[in-house]
Amino acid sequence: MARKIEPKDINIVSLAAHLRDETAAWKFMEELRWPDGPICPHCGSIDNSTLINTNGRKTRLGRPTYRREWTCHDCKKQFSVLVGTIYESSKVPLFKWLLAQHMMCSNKNGVAALEIKRTLNVAYKTAWFICHRIRYAMEGGPLHDALLSGVVEADETWVGGVAKAKPGETRSQTRRRTLDNKTAVVTLVERGGQVRSQAFERVTSANLDHMLSTHVDPSATLMTDERREYATLGRTLADHQTVNHRAGEYARNHAHINTAEGYFGQLKRSIDGTHHHVSRRHLNRYLSEFDFRYNTRKMSDGERTITAVRQAKGKRLMYDKVVKD
Ligand SMILES: [Zn+2]
Repeated sequence: MARKIEPKDINIVSLAAHLRDETAAWKFMEELRWPDGPICPHCGSIDNSTLINTNGRKTRLGRPTYRREWTCHDCKKQFSVLVGTIYESSKVPLFKWLLAQHMMCSNKNGVAALEIKRTLNVAYKTAWFICHRIRYAMEGGPLHDALLSGVVEADETWVGGVAKAKPGETRSQTRRRTLDNKTAVVTLVERGGQVRSQAFERVTSANLDHMLSTHVDPSATLMTDERREYATLGRTLADHQTVNHRAGEYARNHAHINTAEGYFGQLKRSIDGTHHHVSRRHLNRYLSEFDFRYNTRKMSDGERTITAVRQAKGKRLMYDKVVKD
């Protein structure tokens, strides 16, 4: 096997050809995930397994014939390319998964579950779940391991709709409900580099401290607005500069947080324009998706899709977990 797939070959037209039936989709997934031959998920052996030939019969446990199962010569166990991934035990055909993943990787504002439902002809609930599993696969990964360094901008914004006035409610009560609707998003962005975002109910010193110490290298220069909490936290880093927005100051030489504000602009366009509403419960998963697209912005759509598919490993996410989180 091991036919190498070139990222430039991945677009909606070539995918349609690659994914003409379920067997082809399984082979395509193997080529994407195992460019050097099948990897046994039980013992880690590489290219030392044999495809079980089903000769058109149903495989064990009455599994359909398009499933490609392998036997490992080292540990003698059986496996398929879907073991331990977000696609495992899904009833949705693999070609629909791959098309959804490509759509989410090639639209910079993301894709609404309703559009996935229409395009792939699945139930809305299924489309919604597919989107969340794909987002979950975008979380973390090798891109996420490095600390941010150089000049790092930190900023916060609030996401969430404006509450409509209820009959008999005072204006300040409506405003209070609007504030309750909103969730804070803190983002750290390395200029010319990567981004890390997280949602919080409130922005506190403890939250900011945790984010900075988890994601920022101590050698970094921190750029923030004049929010009180940053004053003490900034001292743990090599340098800290602030911009005073209240005094109408937006950039002083290199001291600005325009990169972080640009990121928020894109985030809000996507939430308002594509998703319309994102609940607080699921906001962190949407942020994983936005961070992933930002961190892979220099890649082509094909490279981004391959990266997302490879990150799907070790990421089973059951429906219950999505709903209860
Ligand atoms: Zn094995």
